[in-house]
Amino acid sequence: MSAVSRRNVLRGGLVATTAGVVAPGTVAEAVAAADGASCPAPPGPAMVGHGDRRYRSLASRGYNRRVVGEPEHVWVVGTTAHVVRAAQQAVDSGGRITVRSGGHGFENFVADPAVEVVVDMSAMTGVSYDPARRAFAVEAGALLGDVYRRLYLGWGVTIPAGWCADVGVGGHILGGGYGPLSRLMGLSVDHLYAVEVVVVDRRGRARAVVATREPSDPHRDLWWAHTGGGPGTFGIVTRYWFRTPADGDDPSGLLPAPPAGVLSFQVSWDWEKLDRTSFARLVRNHGAWAEQHSAPDSPYLALYSELALTRRPSGTVFMIGQVAADSGAERMLDEHIAALNRGVPVQPVRPVRNQAWLAAALAGSPGDPGPVYRLKVKSGYLRRRFTDRQIEALHHHLTRTDYDHPGGGVSLYTHGGKVNTVAPDATATPHREASIKMF
Ligand SMILES: Cc1cc2nc3c(=O)[nH]c(=O)nc-3n(C[C@H](O)[C@H](O)[C@H](O)COP(=O)(O)OP(=O)(O)OC[C@H]3O[C@@H](n4cnc5c(N)ncnc54)[C@H](O)[C@@H]3O)c2cc1C
Repeated sequence: MSAVSRRNVLRGGLVATTAGVVAPGTVAEAVAAADGASCPAPPGPAMVGHGDRRYRSLASRGYNRRVVGEPEHVWVVGTTAHVVRAAQQAVDSGGRITVRSGGHGFENFVADPAVEVVVDMSAMTGVSYDPARRAFAVEAGALLGDVYRRLYLGWGVTIPAGWCADVGVGGHILGGGYGPLSRLMGLSVDHLYAVEVVVVDRRGRARAVVATREPSDPHRDLWWAHTGGGPGTFGIVTRYWFRTPADGDDPSGLLPAPPAGVLSFQVSWDWEKLDRTSFARLVRNHGAWAEQHSAPDSPYLALYSELALTRRPSGTVFMIGQVAADSGAERMLDEHIAALNRGVPVQPVRPVRNQAWLAAALAGSPGDPGPVYRLKVKSGYLRRRFTDRQIEALHHHLTRTDYDHPGGGVSLYTHGGKVNTVAPDATATPHREASIKMF
């Protein structure tokens, strides 16, 4: 999907796309009657423009400051009905509209000079169990940390989503949702039961539609499109429902349970001691290990690692990760490091930490704005390890001296396991043979 077509999100693009997926007149509108009545009033709707003191907080809360936008106004919304209203207003006025949830997108799909209206989902953060759908309902503005905390404390379950607790569920799920537990449990979208999404039909009417994975659901295609088809492409998601394909009425059996504890680690290799040969050996060993252990029957599925091949001026090549196992975690990590370091004459430094699972999942303190980042990121999936020629090119660019910026690099994430048990066409995330995810 090109950047241009993604950016068409909710103007012409949405109208055309949804008209193809959801036949007007046959859709079940998600009635927003449940919004509010006997509950405390939700925030919004508020149309925040330049003169409003909230404007700056709302308009500039994106993670990647390489891209900036200055929308005419930002909608604060608290219910699905508010989102429908915001979308309708943008359609009627012809304003280019987009949506922001956690603000952790890498590209300029939200922060862009061409965007006129932003719907900000950050006040819609509910996480609850919906007995009618036998699934966990998560509002799109929730951050992953909110989701982990509430699902785990409430029912002892989780979804295998990303490592950064600040990422928004709104955009994350639409890209597949990959994290430290995915080798054990699959992608987040493998547990997605339904979405509620605000779309605009061919007559220019905004409305909310619920699409489920039920084979009999006439909107099943719309559900499928939300299992990796890309964020902001088909409409504004207001709510997700999660349930692993499973039977039973006990909520604690409807999603996977994480381990009680994890072993978190950070391993680093001093760049000064890594020459061309030992660097190549380390990368080759890592690729071989990932290939060997990407099958669903690997005994190392609990081990997740991110090897960061940084630029030499940064000082160290490092690997962070966790072993999500209640027993045998130290042994697994020792064996992993030994396999990577075979023939590498540099002893890595290896701090480790035993943590309760929830503490590890919440690392990164949601809400902390942290440093300002300006990034350009590309990603890809590898079935096989890098060839020697590719490793040579990597080494050249990471060590070249005609460019002295310490930033930049290539990160290699262990992949596969349970992710690779799902058919490529079962969801809109077709990469089901990879051994490494690369950023
Ligand atoms: C520090 C960091 C760590 C990350 N870690 C991981 C990881 O471990 N695993 C992983 O898989 N990914 C990871 N990502 C990538 C992340 O999942 C995506 O960038 C995701 O799109 C961010 O979602 P967001 O809601 O936070 O971002 P936003 O900037 O709010 O949105 C990103 C995109 O999604 C669209 N969008 C947002 N909300 C909605 C909605 N409600 N309905 C429709 N479209 C919407 C936006 O319009 C935009 O195009 C990480 C990103 C960062 C910056």
